[in-house]
Amino acid sequence: MKRSLALLSTAILCCSALFLTGCGDNQANGGKKVLKMATEATFPPYEYFENGKVCGIDVDIVTEITKNLGYDLEVVDMKFDSVILSVQTSKCDIAASGITVTEDRKKQINFTHPYVTAAQVIIVPKESKIAKPEDLKDEKIRIAVQQGTTGDSYVATNLHEPLRYDNAGLAVAALLAAKCEAVVCDSEPAKVHVSKHPEVKILPIALTSEEYAFALNKKDTELLDGFNKELIKMRENGKLQAILDKYLNAKPE
Ligand code: GLN
Repeated sequence: MKRSLALLSTAILCCSALFLTGCGDNQANGGKKVLKMATEATFPPYEYFENGKVCGIDVDIVTEITKNLGYDLEVVDMKFDSVILSVQTSKCDIAASGITVTEDRKKQINFTHPYVTAAQVIIVPKESKIAKPEDLKDEKIRIAVQQGTTGDSYVATNLHEPLRYDNAGLAVAALLAAKCEAVVCDSEPAKVHVSKHPEVKILPIALTSEEYAFALNKKDTELLDGFNKELIKMRENGKLQAILDKYLNAKPE
């Protein structure tokens, strides 16, 4: 027992060392530098696991940009409330995680040009009496959100304290288990969750209108310039739209 505990702690130490050395410094990799992208991969269609790999809109856009800038890309999955911090503390080079541009976050990191617009929407059971945003004001309505998101701050600031979960999928699971009466989350992931659970629906009126951008450390101004130039190029040559179309027009299975 003692021996297996010792082995386990050695394994944990090795894994953390790998993570710590892996993040931050751009290491040589066959002559190419590696950019570390921080994300939270339960946010379809922007980032999600498929066959053990993180894929989605953010991964495709950042892969295209890093390729053009001469880097290899490594994706690092973590909790959403660590994504911006990992860039701020230089553990990762870029955060790409459906991150909404906000004034508060602008104080911590630099944002690239926005690449898409989004919204916070409300998910409720199909037979729910909740029909519009004002109905959420009732303190008895328990609202589930993803911790650290703009949905979390919108509900806490404008409505009342939400129930916080690690991701929107868990918030929807709470709704299905009648542990809350509504979920507030980003519009595209909401569509994916609702397509899998016919017993819930998205209300037609959104709570916010937001823009997503990538986040970089404030000192990485050269890399920021590179990203912004590539984003403009991808807008002009249609590659950005092609990536959005590939995922956002996809029909649910
Ligand atoms: N767009 C939301 C935010 O930036 C949620 C992002 C996410 O959960 N990945 O807070």
